Amino acid sequence: LVERMRPFTSTIFAEITALATRTGAINLGQGFPDTDGPDVLLEAASNAIHGGLNQYPPGPGLPVLREAVAQHQKRFYGLDADPDTEVLVTAGATEAIAATIMALCEPGDEVVTFDPVYDSYAASIALAGAVKRTVTLRWPDFGLDEAELRAAFGPRTRVVLLNTPQNPTGKVFDRAELELIGRLAIEHDAVVVTDEVYEHMVFDDGVHVPIATLPGMAERTVTISSAGKTFSVTGWKVGWLHGPAELVAAARAVKQFLTFVSAGPLQPAVATGLGLDDDFYAGLRDGLQAKRDLLVDGLRAAGFPVSVPGGTYFVIADAAPLGFADGVELCQRLPELVGVAAVPVSVFYSDPSAAPSLVRFAFCKRDEVLHDAVERLGRLSS
Ligand code: PMP
Ligand code: GLN
Repeated sequence: LVERMRPFTSTIFAEITALATRTGAINLGQGFPDTDGPDVLLEAASNAIHGGLNQYPPGPGLPVLREAVAQHQKRFYGLDADPDTEVLVTAGATEAIAATIMALCEPGDEVVTFDPVYDSYAASIALAGAVKRTVTLRWPDFGLDEAELRAAFGPRTRVVLLNTPQNPTGKVFDRAELELIGRLAIEHDAVVVTDEVYEHMVFDDGVHVPIATLPGMAERTVTISSAGKTFSVTGWKVGWLHGPAELVAAARAVKQFLTFVSAGPLQPAVATGLGLDDDFYAGLRDGLQAKRDLLVDGLRAAGFPVSVPGGTYFVIADAAPLGFADGVELCQRLPELVGVAAVPVSVFYSDPSAAPSLVRFAFCKRDEVLHDAVERLGRLSS
């Protein structure tokens, strides 16, 4: 294995899911729902398979899905995208991120990211031979420090790789933070690559602001999302990106040699999903918000201080007051201690000492599973 990929031989999600499976623990580690998405999607996929849509789709994606992505961006955010030149269908958001970074970064170019950062970002940056420059967001507010952000930019900054709502913190970047990021990107002539897979999971009075909607940003932003989260089909691996034609063409050039094309019969099904009415989207958000509240209340009752997430599938809790100073060790022992699996947060930081005792729990599970998990976690302090 080449040296630059040696730190990435296994992922924390695969490790914790294997541990949960081995021990029979409730898996609140890896973020995937335990119920499938809307029937209309499942039927549309099945119809496409039985209807003979089983050969290579066009490289940029089936027109029906590119059209649906463009309409979705217009409907929710007022963003214009030409489905022919400004949208690309990818193998999940993961491929969209990798293809974009590889398309835009020369070896030695710098990518500004926000710790704690989703695990595939560092690997994609390493694959491109680029250099990660980190801005650290700290428990419990995960606020953005302007001086630290400024200091992360320099003459080699090529990309800012943003994630809002953010995994694992649940942070929803607000307009002022995004304006600051946008101003610095313009100042340094950097491209913003924004991963918005949790765009429809923003709670309370929060709003998801795509950075592409800010003045001057559409022309330098690649916006990425995926069907996995919005339609509870994480195994489908259908994602997309949109942005200015030249940036999309660059990502497409790389994508064609990573996977060539992405799952044909799933694409019309995802197009069907993107066209679902407002009730579907509101139901998704309200349902998850109730699950968040259930888990937050349960964790608090079990003695964990919690950072209440404004979005995503995830909540971060501090295990230190329960006597667990090391989150990695706790997550290795938690299945055996109480039959629940979770993910240590320190692995998402370049400097693990920034969050030694923090642990991430996923709440995208059926209510009875969450109730059971909360009851088990209550035994930790008794
Ligand atoms: N980005 C973030 C922030 C994620 O949490 C995930 C996990 N779903 C992904 C990207 C990967 O998305 P996909 O499964 O569509 O590749
Ligand atoms: N996005 C999911 C999470 O954060 C995991 C995806 C994966 O296993 N790579 O839990």
